[in-house]
Amino acid sequence: MGLGCKRDGGTAMVYRMSWDGKFSESETNVGGPWPNGVVKVFAPEGLDREYVQIVRTTFRRWEHCVLEYWGVQLIKFVEVGAAGNGVATLNFASNSADIGYFPGASTKLGVYGKANIKSLPHEVGHALGLAHEHERDDAPDSVLNTWGANKMALDAYKLNKRNSTRKFETYGTDFDPKSIMMYADQAAGLMDSVDNTRYGGCKIDPGHVVSGDWNPSMGDLEVLGRIYRHYSTI
Ligand SMILES: [Zn+2]
Repeated sequence: MGLGCKRDGGTAMVYRMSWDGKFSESETNVGGPWPNGVVKVFAPEGLDREYVQIVRTTFRRWEHCVLEYWGVQLIKFVEVGAAGNGVATLNFASNSADIGYFPGASTKLGVYGKANIKSLPHEVGHALGLAHEHERDDAPDSVLNTWGANKMALDAYKLNKRNSTRKFETYGTDFDPKSIMMYADQAAGLMDSVDNTRYGGCKIDPGHVVSGDWNPSMGDLEVLGRIYRHYSTI
């Protein structure tokens, strides 16, 4: 039901993943869980303030869904006044996010403007420590087949899948076909419908993101809890 960063974290570079299927940085590493589940974020001056508010709405939605699922506030986004090591800096110039917390680096949380607003919950999921569900080692062949004749994308996918096996944990969960951490095309290989529902789904409507009523999957929430609940008393 999910794929997340390892609890002991990473020590090398940060692994960037993007919604649009570009895998150019697949050899780099991943961060670990945010200490006490507190994600430090810096929103620089000059960003579209209206869009920053939508990002904040997305933060609140993740917090709410994790709280509702686990009964405990396991994660929280806190804005800080400057970029720096152990801080994820928001930008609207790229569409990729570093995975998890990395104490020795200033990381990025990139959501490429309003045109890609539907990917905002997915990118924030990366910031929390979630990886691409379709890159789990046990992802079904129907996912592999979605790459079709695109050999470059298929080779990159296989490379990422091997890296995922080494750098991420499934925490004993099963593959989750409803994870929002899949690309839409790969999710489409699994299900008749991947519409966003209260049980999660891959295709999130931009309107859902603006109003904050999108849903992660139960598997996404399960893995986040398995990463972060050791910080709490439950
Ligand atoms: Zn991604």
